[in-house]
Amino acid sequence: MQKRLLLLFRYPGQQLNSSEIKTFISDIEIKLRGQLSSIKDIKGLEDFRVQALGKKSELYSVLRNIGELPPEERKLAGESVNKLKTILEQEISVLEAELKKKAGAERLIADAIDVTMPGEYKRLGALHPVTQVMEEIVEIFKPLGYSVVHGPEIEHEFFNFDALNIPADHPARDMQDTFYLGADTVLRTHTSPVQARTMMQSKPPIRVLSPGKVYRSDYDVTHTPMFHQIEGLYVDEGIKFSHLKGTLLYFAKRMFGQDTSIRLRPSYFSFTEPSAEVDVTCVACKGKGCRICKGTGWLEILGCGMVNPNVFKHVGYPESTTGFAFGMGIERIAMLKYKINDLRLFFENDARFLRQFS
Ligand SMILES: [Zn+2]
Repeated sequence: MQKRLLLLFRYPGQQLNSSEIKTFISDIEIKLRGQLSSIKDIKGLEDFRVQALGKKSELYSVLRNIGELPPEERKLAGESVNKLKTILEQEISVLEAELKKKAGAERLIADAIDVTMPGEYKRLGALHPVTQVMEEIVEIFKPLGYSVVHGPEIEHEFFNFDALNIPADHPARDMQDTFYLGADTVLRTHTSPVQARTMMQSKPPIRVLSPGKVYRSDYDVTHTPMFHQIEGLYVDEGIKFSHLKGTLLYFAKRMFGQDTSIRLRPSYFSFTEPSAEVDVTCVACKGKGCRICKGTGWLEILGCGMVNPNVFKHVGYPESTTGFAFGMGIERIAMLKYKINDLRLFFENDARFLRQFS
């Protein structure tokens, strides 16, 4: 086409006549219509608009060179080109509207939401079973007037041992049990130092619970190097062993059910005197005797006793002071309550295990 165009204008006045101009414009029209009919999208249409009507188009070059034509043909050529331009512009705008509508419809289909599809949901986390049991124990003691106190996990030897009547030659200080951080600094081996700290900071009456992490160098089915304890301390005038027993029976019934009984066995702890270990009715067989309680019908849950007068002396209380203390492993309580047979499960963070407590 470009070749013919050049030919058309090379020898003005020689080869040109009306019918040739008509044929030439008509050839351009046929070609452009062919292109227009195959356009599928807006981008293609924009390219076509530039190519068919822009400064570099054949139609534009005819208009630009129209002065080369013999005067009698100029009008015809100008009219024909402008008419074709107008027609093309109209058709382009019609097609543009159609393509935009089609694109809109396609987008609607693509963006459509299938309300029958199953929804995605975020799985909610839950408190760790140890935390749950710790909170449950605190809730049980709250109505009796106990409040919660906390202390440091990196503890001075004095609070962890001396203040609790554990002398320097006591086996509990053995390097195999205790993590020493320095000459006189340890990772606390029990939550009892919080009792000593509380008594040194305040005067009786005292009713506190101290829950938290404790550390011992031990690892097997029933021991992990870190575990949780909760201790209770009641200090006032005239506190008797019967108060302790009543408190623990109340706790056992709330924790393991109203049909639970307790049994106290004499024991020894350096910071209580007298001391006892406390059993509850077996949670599995309710006292009949089974594999879990080794046929006894009882399960040990905690240690307790009347606060040793030496402890009161260490913290500067008068001799007339009386009180009781008790302490238990929170994992031990959780294992009995949820019938878990391996302590290490608590710390492996297997989501399938933890999910059972949500
Ligand atoms: Zn049993």
